[in-house]
Amino acid sequence: MTIDLHVHTKFGSSCSYMRPQEMAKKAKQLGLDAVCITEHDVSWAAADLDNLSQEHEILVLGGVEVSTDLGHVLVYGVYQPIWSVSRAEELRKLVDQHGGAMIAAHPFRVDRFSPDREVQLAEYCSRPIFQLVDAAEVFNGRSTTKEIDFGCEVLCRLKLRGVGGSDAHAVHTIGETVTVFERPIANNSELISELKAGRFKALHRVLNRSFEGG
Ligand SMILES: [Zn+2]
Ligand SMILES: [Zn+2]
Repeated sequence: MTIDLHVHTKFGSSCSYMRPQEMAKKAKQLGLDAVCITEHDVSWAAADLDNLSQEHEILVLGGVEVSTDLGHVLVYGVYQPIWSVSRAEELRKLVDQHGGAMIAAHPFRVDRFSPDREVQLAEYCSRPIFQLVDAAEVFNGRSTTKEIDFGCEVLCRLKLRGVGGSDAHAVHTIGETVTVFERPIANNSELISELKAGRFKALHRVLNRSFEGG
């Protein structure tokens, strides 16, 4: 079951160029089994997700990308406004109350790498966000090869699972990086169960790399 877990549309993210209909159509054409809309700080209504699913005959799930003090976090399974929760620790409590799942979004994106590889690895490994999430996005559509190499090693050291999500803001980047689940998923609650159970691997369809994590 191949799912792009991280996509933005024009409907909820002003930074996106993609209409939801174009997004769903492209995901279907690519042969993805599902796509998960994760706008910045706002969730789609369940009825709108269902309508898009039915119109394009592809499962469309919903999450939200929350901006926190520890970086962007993808949240699945909280169906109330959460834009005001800016501390990642508080967000974890709220997500647990709702039985949801939390993934660190593009946590390996950096402005500058340390010239010392071990120093850089230690810095990544010590980041508190990794203690709060169920998994981390090891393949983001905008990840550089260097970020990916560090990400794979950090997640192995931390024994943390890795997912892939395109972070698409335009139609041509949908599905470049995805998550492949072992079991079928038909709705958000099954997605959350599988995320929490760790039954998936990340796949980079452009670089032809996969990662299962710790
Ligand atoms: Zn982000
Ligand atoms: Zn994003």
